[in-house]
Amino acid sequence: MLSLSRLYARARQVAMVAVIAASTHAGVSGPASAGESAKQIFGAAELPAVLPARAIGFYSKGCLAGGMAIAADGPTWQAMRLSRNRRWGHPDLVALVQKLSREAAAQDGWPGLLVGDISQPRGGPMLSGHASHQVGLDADVWLTPMPGRTLSVAERETLSATSMLRKDTLFVDDSIWTPAHARLLMRAASYPEVERIFIHPGIKKKLCDTWKGDRSAMGKLRPYYGHHYHFHIRIKCPPGVSGCKDQTPPPSGSGCDGSLAWWFTDEPWAPAKPKKDDKPAPKKRDIQLSDLPSACTAVVRAPGPASEAEVTLGADPIARIARANAKAASAAALPGPPPPGNIPLPVPRPAN
Ligand SMILES: [Zn+2]
Repeated sequence: MLSLSRLYARARQVAMVAVIAASTHAGVSGPASAGESAKQIFGAAELPAVLPARAIGFYSKGCLAGGMAIAADGPTWQAMRLSRNRRWGHPDLVALVQKLSREAAAQDGWPGLLVGDISQPRGGPMLSGHASHQVGLDADVWLTPMPGRTLSVAERETLSATSMLRKDTLFVDDSIWTPAHARLLMRAASYPEVERIFIHPGIKKKLCDTWKGDRSAMGKLRPYYGHHYHFHIRIKCPPGVSGCKDQTPPPSGSGCDGSLAWWFTDEPWAPAKPKKDDKPAPKKRDIQLSDLPSACTAVVRAPGPASEAEVTLGADPIARIARANAKAASAAALPGPPPPGNIPLPVPRPAN
């Protein structure tokens, strides 16, 4: 039987072939050529840059050094759409997603997280979707609870998330929405490292109208377009990370006010007004590598790890310990090298 990890590696290979075919050369292994957009360069990276973990730039204009993957499966989460290879984030974000999954399962009656896109291995702009998610500090989580079985790789590609809205309305469908959804969202917002959470205005309204617990984190839940199939967690720049640009914090207060009521007027949903002159809008230019912080060039050029496993966080620790023990036991069973005599030990090189 093919292991899950081999299956998704294969699924990704197929996706990568398409990416490489669409780009002018094979991406990060070659020199970045002028004129190649940043999304082609970063979209072709299969593994992260082995550098100290660092979110570089801004959520919608930057890259990621030292990215870690969330394991495809953990005790309280399953990662979706494995072929996209967007399970990479700053280690603090990956740890936070895992903590949320554990605490929500233990305390909120939420069986586990279906994890959507985080970032590409080296962050950066993407070939499809998302303007943000570039620095490894943004993660999408489905509003569909994790089923009580391991989804197949194919199911993770094709299964649709559940909208929380009544069809063709801006309001939550009470036959789908549950108190556990509310507890999950309020828990996610409560973590001090969480900067904001994007959700649909209808969901924000539901929380404003019904949440009876502590409302001090309510203001971090920011109403936005989309986000009724999933919510989007954004964490602050991790402490001590230079070159990471924080976003202006959300306004104080719960946000259950006129700013929310605005979303239920026609204005946010009206089609854009045509310009007075009839010149077509200039085509938006793709972000180039030179538009990103200069440290992102080093991220593109840095070597990758020998394997994905060594840069993956949160695979079942018990299985991992068992594997390590088995390896140690088999090593002990082999005849070892003769004990060292007076061989001088290597002296560590002085750091420069
Ligand atoms: Zn998102």
